Amino acid sequence: MSDVTTRALEILQRLGAGNPFDAVPEGAQRDLPATSPIDGHEIGRLASHSAADVGDAVGRAHDAFLQWRSVPAPVRGQFVRELGELLREHKDDLGALVSIEAGKILSEGLGEVQEMIDICDLAVGLSRQLHGLTIATERPGHRMMEQWHPLGVVGVISAFNFPVAVWSWNAALAFVCGDAVVWKPSEKTMLTALACQALADEAARRAGAPEHLSQVVLGAREVGEALVDDPRVPLVSATGSTRMGKEVAPRVAARLGRSLLELGGNNAAVVAPSADLDLAVRGIVFSAVGTAGQRCTSLRRVIVHESIKDELVERLAKAYATLPIGSPLDPTTLVGPLVDEASFRAFGDAISRAQADGGTLVTGGAQDVAASDATGGGYYVQPAIVDMPGQTDVVKEETFAPILYVLTYSSFVDALALHNDVAQGLSSSIFTLDVREAETFVSAVGSDCGIANVNIGPSGAEIGGAFGGEKDTGGGRESGSDAWRAYMRRATNTVNYSTELPLAQGVEFV
Ligand code: NAD
Repeated sequence: MSDVTTRALEILQRLGAGNPFDAVPEGAQRDLPATSPIDGHEIGRLASHSAADVGDAVGRAHDAFLQWRSVPAPVRGQFVRELGELLREHKDDLGALVSIEAGKILSEGLGEVQEMIDICDLAVGLSRQLHGLTIATERPGHRMMEQWHPLGVVGVISAFNFPVAVWSWNAALAFVCGDAVVWKPSEKTMLTALACQALADEAARRAGAPEHLSQVVLGAREVGEALVDDPRVPLVSATGSTRMGKEVAPRVAARLGRSLLELGGNNAAVVAPSADLDLAVRGIVFSAVGTAGQRCTSLRRVIVHESIKDELVERLAKAYATLPIGSPLDPTTLVGPLVDEASFRAFGDAISRAQADGGTLVTGGAQDVAASDATGGGYYVQPAIVDMPGQTDVVKEETFAPILYVLTYSSFVDALALHNDVAQGLSSSIFTLDVREAETFVSAVGSDCGIANVNIGPSGAEIGGAFGGEKDTGGGRESGSDAWRAYMRRATNTVNYSTELPLAQGVEFV
């Protein structure tokens, strides 16, 4: 048994999830390998749920919802408060399990759990703030108001790269809104999902919430499809590739369900002549290389003014040369592995295509760079910078790996045009000390993304703001601001407290 396997099994025990491999029913086909990208080792094999199992889980969640919707929202908040407390208690263990299963460095694994704690705090506060409006009516002796009611069972489909935070962004809000949640995690990150489920069960016990409010179903796309097609699931929140979103959205729409889509990005940073380059270099390196380029908000394109391009590229190359690559469990590592062989191949292929398009590899691109006893079998690469003569097809695609394309501009108008000339619209940033450029970038004629930042990179969002993007990113918003409304249904109520029955628009009828 590898060290990684032993550690994962110990953590699962401490989080109350037991040994999930022992829990697979006798005779079930163990078709789901749970592996760690750290060393490629198979930790064990789990069994996919069938479409009938998904239906049963939705049925149980629906029964729980029927009780939960009548519980006052501030009391529902107590369940999420307990969940937040358990996450605080188990932050180190769950953060390490995220590192083991998704391959992100320990500090980012812990950061992801902190994000869960933060959203629980936000949701507990929200549980006393799920307010509607009172609206002036044209009829005397009447009152018109809006109320927000619980929606039902929320289906959550999540990606491998934020294996626990994405569930919590959805679940914490859905629970205080009075919903139940059925979660289909990525088939690459099932163990962290089972750990979260164990914590949610314990939180429900402590808070006296109904059983089965939170459910997990395991499997690949077929299991996701069963959830997507279930008419008892009024909202499907799906996070993953644009390809997946384009398959999910029409299926949900065909039954007139709602979907909340958080899909791929192709995020850029404009670096203007006035930029503070010390700041820009730090912001760019974190955004491009953090999580080994496997964040939806990872920086993939730098659009730099021609007058400072050479200096910026040289400084970036110097910074890239010092990045420690290796096991994400080693606290000195800054670049962990890619998630699997397919990602590894996509990295190499994209660099070759960029070179064929006339790009120059400035630094990086080497593969299998961290082979050692601890990492043998993992897919480690040296983050790459490619200087491009223009925005070719490969630059316009999202390659989920640490490749940073450098594009050059001469006028600010051209920079904005290049910036927006991709299909995706998730996150963006500008480094400038020119207030006109900064304000233009975040204005209606600037960045067309859901997130537009000034003097910070595009990745590393806080939970207080609404998170999501436009165009091929899917248009969904999660997390803070008024994102909670997606998890509720709105009712408009007109109450007549008079003795008359005036009709709207002055209509006369008997
Ligand atoms: P993926 O699309 O391969 O899988 C995501 C999830 O969808 C998995 O659970 C998978 O089993 C499921 N799935 C796939 N096809 C499906 C279908 N037809 N019906 C139902 N379910 C289906 O994505 P991935 O490789 O796990 O994650 C990387 C991608 O996710 C990147 O494109 C990244 O940008 C994106 N992402 C976006 C956000 C965001 O908030 N915008 C956050 C994280 C990741």
